[in-house]
Amino acid sequence: MGTGSGVFAEVFVGLGLDVTGIDIQESMLNSSENVGDRRGPSSLQSGSGARNEADAEGGTMTKIGIIICGRYQSCAGGKCFRALRERAGAFAVYPKEEPVEVVGYSTCGGCPGGNVEYVPEEMIKNGAQVIHLATGLVVGYPPCPQIRQFKKFIEARYGIPVVVGTHPIPLKYFKVHERLDFWKEMGMEEIAGALMKEDKKIMEAYN
Ligand code: SF4
Repeated sequence: MGTGSGVFAEVFVGLGLDVTGIDIQESMLNSSENVGDRRGPSSLQSGSGARNEADAEGGTMTKIGIIICGRYQSCAGGKCFRALRERAGAFAVYPKEEPVEVVGYSTCGGCPGGNVEYVPEEMIKNGAQVIHLATGLVVGYPPCPQIRQFKKFIEARYGIPVVVGTHPIPLKYFKVHERLDFWKEMGMEEIAGALMKEDKKIMEAYN
């Protein structure tokens, strides 16, 4: 892997993060020579001018918003918050030594997802620099048919990156999807490939 913007493009594309149209500030890129530290959206500067905040030790603090599928609206978020702590699933993009704060957590509002038009605004007001679409949108039966449009819309309207996924795909869901063609039909690998390639032992731990 090289350095600079090419590296970041590789990292984010590899994680299913479409950086098209998102302005990655060059100075941030140049200061992140060591990609082995898996610096992720904490080093992204969005077109909206969002900035990482300094934490108590003077490091960087990444603020994220999470939108879950309305079908799982009663979910208490245990897998998402555990994965964030463990930096597993889509949260593996954030280096363990850097703090990440969840500044917003909401549902899409139920099909067809009207809340997606509005909740990013409040999340961004509270400092969100990146929005995660929860893993439930990927693994539901069927997966959310709007998932691509949600990602495209939020990135275009709000100018911040959208990552597809939160916690690792539970293995029991992965195994059923292997027998279905939903993901193939939707080209899910293109936007959630990193989740699908996760170690099966980790997936099993999230059953
Ligand atoms: S399938 Fe999509 S639109 Fe429907 S409730 Fe889930 S996230 Fe919302």
